[in-house]
Amino acid sequence: MAPPRVKHYLVNDKNEDPGLVIEIENLGDYILFDIGNIYKLDRHLIKKINKIFISHTHMDHFIGFDYLLRNKLGKAQTVEMFGIAPVVDNTYCKLQGYTWNLVEFEPQIIFKIKQLNENLFETYSLDIKKRFAKDFVKDEPVNSDVIYENEYYRVRYAVLDHKIWIMGYAFEYKDRLFLKKEKVKELPLKGKEIGEFKAFLEDESNRGKTFKIGDKEFDYDYLREKYSYIQEGIKISYITDVVYSKENKEKIINLVKDSDYLYCEAVFLEEDEEQASSVYHLTSKQTAEIAKEANVKNLVVFHISRRYGKNYDIVIDEVKKYFENVS
Ligand SMILES: [Zn+2]
Ligand SMILES: [Zn+2]
Repeated sequence: MAPPRVKHYLVNDKNEDPGLVIEIENLGDYILFDIGNIYKLDRHLIKKINKIFISHTHMDHFIGFDYLLRNKLGKAQTVEMFGIAPVVDNTYCKLQGYTWNLVEFEPQIIFKIKQLNENLFETYSLDIKKRFAKDFVKDEPVNSDVIYENEYYRVRYAVLDHKIWIMGYAFEYKDRLFLKKEKVKELPLKGKEIGEFKAFLEDESNRGKTFKIGDKEFDYDYLREKYSYIQEGIKISYITDVVYSKENKEKIINLVKDSDYLYCEAVFLEEDEEQASSVYHLTSKQTAEIAKEANVKNLVVFHISRRYGKNYDIVIDEVKKYFENVS
């Protein structure tokens, strides 16, 4: 079966502000990783963006927030945002930089922001009807590396060193199980029982157990093979603004392992390694090594330094020396 329809692409050229879009049309989910300059994005798409994951709030990753909001005004919606402290305060202060005296005429826009703050996830709600006051919603203890999850996909994160703490992300669209309808019709199962049968097959911890059909027990593996098939998911990772340290490297590899696509910064050429480490960024070779050791299938590089001008292909060519499948 065809993989899920997930469209993904960089917002800008590789030497411009970072940012990644993931569109999942059938779920109505339009996800943005970082909001740098987003003038190039289609305005209709900006209106539809409903989830935003921020790596950190350096200007080149956050300056587009105002433009995003401006394009969203006039349509009621809730936009979920995720990141690391102080992203809530940064967003709040941006919003307080404007005057909101006519909000009773505005459709309701709410920014619901979940930020990692040491060992807590804190959620705040900033509602246009309250002139974007900073309303505390809840605290949750952090007990996994998943910052967002629904039935279809999850987003994991790692906290990485960029002289400040920043977030790297991995978007994982889950494998999905479907029943072979024609085959299942031959079984003496009705209505609710079919749902139970599917739930039994979906849960891999049932391996080794049996399921009763009629008056006979059948083995999990046998039933799963004969009556269902799997639509494989997709893993897309986004890493930018990190220093090449042993600790960062281990955390990144653990997060992005086996990605179908790794979007990763490659800011400098190998010869500028000293500069790279002093400003906490990666070189071409370092990016290639991470991709190789993490066994990713496709590497897409971006955030290439402006010092190479229009000639930034030299960075991609250098990555290619160490990791073939790069664009
Ligand atoms: Zn930065
Ligand atoms: Zn940056």
